[in-house]
Amino acid sequence: MIIGLDIGGTKLAGGLITPDAQLVERRERPTRAREGVDVSLGGVYALLEELAEAAKTHGTLDGVGICAPGPLDPKTGVIFNPTNMPGWVNIRLAEEVSRRLQVPCLVENDANGAGLGEAVFGAARGFSRVFYATLSTGIGTGIIFDERVYHGKNGAAGEGGHVSIDYRSPVRCNCGSIGCIEALASGSSIARRARERLSEYPQSKILSLAGTLEQITAETIARAAAGGDTLAALLIEETAEMLGAWLGSVVSLLDPDIIVLGGGVSRIGEPLFGRIREAVPRRTINPFAVNTPIVPAQLGKDVGIWGAAAVIRSR
Ligand SMILES: [Zn+2]
Repeated sequence: MIIGLDIGGTKLAGGLITPDAQLVERRERPTRAREGVDVSLGGVYALLEELAEAAKTHGTLDGVGICAPGPLDPKTGVIFNPTNMPGWVNIRLAEEVSRRLQVPCLVENDANGAGLGEAVFGAARGFSRVFYATLSTGIGTGIIFDERVYHGKNGAAGEGGHVSIDYRSPVRCNCGSIGCIEALASGSSIARRARERLSEYPQSKILSLAGTLEQITAETIARAAAGGDTLAALLIEETAEMLGAWLGSVVSLLDPDIIVLGGGVSRIGEPLFGRIREAVPRRTINPFAVNTPIVPAQLGKDVGIWGAAAVIRSR
């Protein structure tokens, strides 16, 4: 029996996962990050203790896996200073959880964990070389080889969202670089591109579907496109072309067995995936790219729980 815990900026979600991969208990509560480290970290320990107690009715607890916002050190389980977790400075999370629950604990960053979750339990089950990307507010990625996260020398590898596809791009990324795929094709970037071009497309339904400019999301654009909206279709096409250029480079570099795409933007579905699959072989030297499956993630909203469970299971 293992505990998988997903620490997000707004909610904590945890579950108990049996050796035959059943999620038997699931708990969720607000992270209360803005109330400071004592409250938010206290909430993490309380939820873990509750799950450990529940584990007793199902069997023995063997370990705890945690997916948390980076930057963090996956080897030591220390969380450095995530922007969305005020006061979390050099938190020795794995060590403290291990001490409290008397079982091994491993901590992984959320995108790596989600990628491992998809490789062990989800869309990439049975594949050994996996490239995973969550296309959401930002773009997080994970590189998984044989059910293990590729960490690089310092634990900082797999930041595919900050691979630049345009060195002269007018768009500066949050990381300080320019033309990062995250700054061009994440959900917030698609929404920004929509806002910038609405005036050229007065017929577009995007704004009326969203309500206000600030409420435009990738989901609004998907709905507008389904209704035949020209601007929405164009935005999806551009997004697919950019993701295709990026993933083509990934295929040239890694020659993965499978590419899994999750997150809100991936819910645009076939209109996006079809175009990406068409673009990738054009954007790589790899002649086998046409056979590389590019598929939607399967674990949905509980990907963080499954990912965290995979982290401790694959140790
Ligand atoms: Zn960047």
